[in-house]
This record gives sequence, structure tokens and C-alpha cells, in this order.
Amino acid sequence: MNNSTETHGVWTVTAPPHPALLPLEGECKTDVAVIGGGYTGLSATLHLAEAGTNVTLLEAKSIGYGGSGRNVGLVNAGLWLKPDEVVEIMGSEYGERVLDVLGSSPDLVFELINKHKIECDPIREGTLHCAHSPAGYKVLRQREEQWQRRNAPVTLLSREKAAPMIGSDSFHGALLDKRAGQIQPLAYAYGLADAGKKAGAKLYVNSPITTFKKDGDTWRLKTPDGVVLAKTVILATQGYPDYAFKNQKNSMVPFNYFQFSTLPLPESVRKTILPGGHAAWDTNLILSSYKLDRDGRLIVGSVGQARNGAYNLHKNWTLRSIKKVFPQVGSIELEHAWDGIIRMTTDNIPRFHILDKGMITVTSYNGRGIGPGTMFGKLLAEYTQSESLTCIPLPLTSQEDISSRILRGLYYEVGARLYHFAQRRF
Ligand SMILES: Cc1cc2nc3c(=O)[nH]c(=O)nc-3n(C[C@H](O)[C@H](O)[C@H](O)COP(=O)(O)OP(=O)(O)OC[C@H]3O[C@@H](n4cnc5c(N)ncnc54)[C@H](O)[C@@H]3O)c2cc1C
Repeated sequence: MNNSTETHGVWTVTAPPHPALLPLEGECKTDVAVIGGGYTGLSATLHLAEAGTNVTLLEAKSIGYGGSGRNVGLVNAGLWLKPDEVVEIMGSEYGERVLDVLGSSPDLVFELINKHKIECDPIREGTLHCAHSPAGYKVLRQREEQWQRRNAPVTLLSREKAAPMIGSDSFHGALLDKRAGQIQPLAYAYGLADAGKKAGAKLYVNSPITTFKKDGDTWRLKTPDGVVLAKTVILATQGYPDYAFKNQKNSMVPFNYFQFSTLPLPESVRKTILPGGHAAWDTNLILSSYKLDRDGRLIVGSVGQARNGAYNLHKNWTLRSIKKVFPQVGSIELEHAWDGIIRMTTDNIPRFHILDKGMITVTSYNGRGIGPGTMFGKLLAEYTQSESLTCIPLPLTSQEDISSRILRGLYYEVGARLYHFAQRRF
């Protein structure tokens, strides 16, 4: 098992080949430069190219190198917080708007997949948020009530109803969100890149922006072998900012999330686990996620690194967790391990910033980036055309460093290790 920080685990194995793209060489003039080849940057690029704008995307490494190629693949509707909490923090105008816009973000994801025939194993049967305890069930009831008040197709299932849908009687019930679904995340990123290229965008990989400056109204973005001259810049470096944009990290709290995948399960076992095509995660503070890939591998994830000293600890926890939650799997080998960095804000709400005239960003999706990244990419594209703040359902704020970010990040990492260690006897 490759457990370096570079691996994207099983997603690399089951994705189509990386789009045929080269590094930037020489000078390139463009109307809009997009920095970062994850969902936000790719969606912005695709929508701009489709609108006939001259757009150029620059990715430091490969398409989907960041969170977009490492995540679980849950296409969630909305943010991590309960809907009423979003409104409490943002006020009703922005709160209800962001809930509405992000509630429909799975529609956009699955529309793009259909329209561009993206081969990313899409399944839209909803997701199951599983109650790990009676207290977790109560919280799910609140979520159900708050979403139903907003007419969202979200239903709380009893333990008896949820158990056969999960394929496990370990949970106290589950919240079914029919707006949501699942995809192969890296393949989705590759598909967006191919669609953007076909629509006329220029995309470059292995082209980190190492320095940037403004000459009059023009941004000069330098890569190791080239330079881009752009009127507008969309910064879409999110969880993996590097080189000239390293300091973007200062405004977010990092935490790691690992995943292990098993060897493909035998057909007789595979059809007992999440048989309706749902993907699942639980209400625990140190949450776990469960899904099957198209070949019947069980993929289990949780908080922490799948590297260094934590590798064996989390691997052993994963094996015990499979035994407890899905005992029908029996003894099984883990085939792939990988992890990624999620970057959070202190209130779990994403941010919209104009970093300088002609340089914009929406960042910090707090672990919910497939729908939001695709949606905010589209909205940022619209913003570059109209410069109307109403395009973005977030207040415009200035970027602020979180001085306690490293300590907070450590708190998540150590907390997850202690929790997984303490569970060694379950
Ligand atoms: C392990 C994990 C599990 C997750 N699970 C889910 C999930 O199930 N559902 C969900 O909705 N969300 C999930 N998320 C969150 C989601 O993956 C992210 O929010 C989303 O991918 C962010 O997309 P993005 O395009 O904004 O940024 P990213 O995908 O992080 O892309 C940023 C890109 O910018 C590039 N870059 C950085 N600096 C430069 C530079 N100087 N020049 C050029 N390029 C640069 C990076 O190389 C990177 O490719 C998860 C995240 C992780 C890490």
C-alpha cells in the first residue's frame, strides 16, 4: 500500500487516464486566469469557456491533485451545519440564499455529468446520515424538521427501516437525503477538465504560479516556464494552496481525513451492503464514512492521516470497524490507503473575498466541496462577467488569519488518534 501524501488511492486506479494536458511554456494572454485544477477552478473554467470567454486554467500539479481527487465522493446538498445554524450565523437573507443555492448544487453536478457524459460512476439515490447513538438520532430529527420546513426531500428513517438500507444494524436510524448522491471524485474532476478543454479553454498542468504582480490593469502570473497576462484572476486553491498562494492556508484550520479501501468484495457480500446505491456517514464527532465503489470495494474513511505514525493505528481501527459495522464481510485485506486535507473556518461557513481588484476567491467549503465547489465555480464565472455581488450568496469579507489554526488542526489529529486507539476493544 502506498501511504505517501501524493497518493489518491483507489481513485487513481478506477479513474480514466488523466486528461492530455501540458505545462505552460512562454507567454499567454487571457481574459480570465483560473488558478487551481479542482472542482472550483474547473467549473469556473468550463462555464467561462461555454460563455465564450477567453479563459486559462493553471494547475500546480495534476488535475484533481487537491481535495477534488481525494474525497469520499458524497455529493451533498448544503453545508455541514444544520440549516437553522446557517441562518443563525449568516442572518436570514444570506443564510436562506446559501441553503437554497447549495441545496440545488447536486442538481448542477449531475446535470454536468449528464451533459458532458462524464464517466465517474454517478449514483443519485440519496445519502444516509447514520445515527451512531440515541443523541445522534435526536440531532438527525432536528435536521429532518429544519430541512422539511424548507421543503427539502429529507426523511428520518427508524432503526428498522435504515438497517437493511445500510446493510448493518449498528445504527439507531438514518437521515435519507434524496437530493444527494455519489460519484468517483477524481474521474469527475478529469471529466470537467476534458469538457472545459472541448469548450475552448486552455488548461495547463505542472504549472504552479510562483509569483504574481499587477501591471496597471493586468495581472502577471509567473510559472517556472511561462507567464500569463490576465485581466481577472479566480483563485481556486482551496485546501491545497501552494507556491505564491501558500499564505491562503493562514485563514483556515486544517484537518486530515483518511480512507482505506478493501479488495473487491464477493458478489454475495457486496449486495448486502448499501444495496440501494446509497453512500453513508455517521453522526459521531470523529465521523466515519462508508461506501462501495463500482467494483464492490468497501471504502471506509474517518478523521486522521493515513501516513507516518498514524498509519497502523487507523488501519487497525478500519479493520475493526468493518468487523463491527459489516460483520458479513468477514476477514478482508485492505488494498489502498490515502488521505487529504480539509480546511475549515471557525464557524464552518465558506468565505467570499476580493483579494485585490480583479482577483477573487471563494474558499473553505468545510469538507463539503463537490456540490459547493462546482456551484461556486459557476457563480465566480458569472461574477467575472457582471461584477455583481449578488452572484455570490455569501457576504463579501476580508481575509483574516486564524492564529490558532495549527493548534486547532493538531487537536483534530490527536483527538482522532486517541479516539481510534480507545476503540481498540470494541
Ligand atoms: C479526504 C477528503 C474527503 C472529502 N469528502 C468530501 C465529500 O465526500 N463530499 C464533498 O462534497 N466534499 C468532500 N471533501 C471536500 C472537497 O473535496 C473539497 O472541498 C473540494 O475538492 C475543493 O475543491 P477546490 O477546487 O476548491 O480545491 P482543490 O480540489 O483543493 O484544488 C486546489 C488546487 O489548487 C492547486 N494549486 C495550489 N496552489 C497553486 C498554485 N500556486 N498554482 C497553481 N495551482 C495551485 C492545487 O494543486 C490543487 O489541485 C473532502 C475533502 C477531503 C480532503
